[in-house]
Amino acid sequence: MIQIPRGTQDILPKDTYKWQYIENRLHSIAQNYNYKEIRTPVFESTELFVRGVGGSTDIVNKEMYTFKDKGDRSMTLKPEGTAPVVRSYIENKMQHDVNQPVKVYYQAPMFRYERRQKGRYRQFVQFGIEAIGVEDPLIDVEVLSMLMHIYQSFGLRNLKLHINSIGDQHSRAAYNQALVDHFRPSIHEFCSDCQVRIDTNPMRILDCKKDRDHPLVQNAPVIYDYLNDESKAYFEEVKQNLDALDIPYEVDYNLVRGLDYYTHTAFELMSDAEGFGAITTLCGGGRYNGLLELLDGPSETGIGFALSIERLLLALEAEGIELPEPEGIDLYICTLDQSASTAAGRLVHKLRTEGVSCDMDYKHRKLKAQMKDADRKGAAHTIVIGETELASGEAELKNMATGESEKISLDDIAEIRTIIEEK
Ligand code: ATP
Ligand code: MG
Repeated sequence: MIQIPRGTQDILPKDTYKWQYIENRLHSIAQNYNYKEIRTPVFESTELFVRGVGGSTDIVNKEMYTFKDKGDRSMTLKPEGTAPVVRSYIENKMQHDVNQPVKVYYQAPMFRYERRQKGRYRQFVQFGIEAIGVEDPLIDVEVLSMLMHIYQSFGLRNLKLHINSIGDQHSRAAYNQALVDHFRPSIHEFCSDCQVRIDTNPMRILDCKKDRDHPLVQNAPVIYDYLNDESKAYFEEVKQNLDALDIPYEVDYNLVRGLDYYTHTAFELMSDAEGFGAITTLCGGGRYNGLLELLDGPSETGIGFALSIERLLLALEAEGIELPEPEGIDLYICTLDQSASTAAGRLVHKLRTEGVSCDMDYKHRKLKAQMKDADRKGAAHTIVIGETELASGEAELKNMATGESEKISLDDIAEIRTIIEEK
């Protein structure tokens, strides 16, 4: 038997309502903040991610689904959303759009070849936003407030927002040197990845999952001490404006994020719900001031975040929050013989085109079994059609909640609809 690929999942009909509920909520919140949806291809040139995400990241080094197409071009299923959005921004010259900053969101499957773990899939759905074209602490705060709004809107309470500033390019150069000096003498005690990182991107040693408990990580130099005045002022303003909005946060000096292009504000949202499991990050994001130029674009700056719906669902489960189940159908038609079934087939057809959701029995079950079926389908009303009803052209329309019945004419679709909509 052919099985589903490892690290992927089927979202079954009984569960899709949860996804639809979340997706609708995300679309509507995005609209509140005036972000418009952008849809980019499922695959892109591999080069986009190698340059845009960075050659020293786990994503590029280990996790990409890369293949050659029939024209011998290297393509990659997108592992993240920011580089494709920025590629599209540059290609469509969005810096000239009348609406500035350009505020977009996406919701799409992402692909990473990762070790299977709770909350970690090889295909997962990310919702993310990007605000490009403005460098101002207030837009950083807008992004953070939208992030918190999303999670709080589902009733989640055990949320911890971690923020940090990783400064501008100048601050980072000095900091990176301090880290090299700090780690170099003992780098042989670190994992093989970190032994490479010290030369390619020393800040990411702080982000290492294997070495996070090493004493030298714990007492590493703190980036804040290396921020220049501009970077410090920017960070202070972000924090003051978060305070003004009563958004609680914790400054986490070890938060550096995995991607190379971040500058200034970096953040992660964690769940501290009991039973959430080993992975507690719900969402990550930050400001990227070098990315557009790195991809041969204009010198615009941006900020964004990305979350996965899979981990949002885990957080809801950990906090015991149930999403509302969809309502059942409006009407179920039970039939007593073959000619009643034929008539019912015509009736459901007409009602459906009039916007009434209805169903009927196709398995020639006994009336009792059909009533059970109606109940399973959450039918708000039922009609039983047999010989008598066919002869008179009338039937009883029963309201399943109240138990009351009303006589209706089987030809009068408008009347049936009116009664059903009254409930
Ligand atoms: P992690 O440290 O968990 O590997 P990351 O730094 O790789 O996360 P990002 O690239 O920042 O994650 O992705 C943003 C968000 O997407 C994460 O916070 C998480 O919610 C989600 N995410 C990342 N990888 C996966 C995955 N394999 N399966 C499900 N969700 C994921
Ligand atoms: Mg990862």
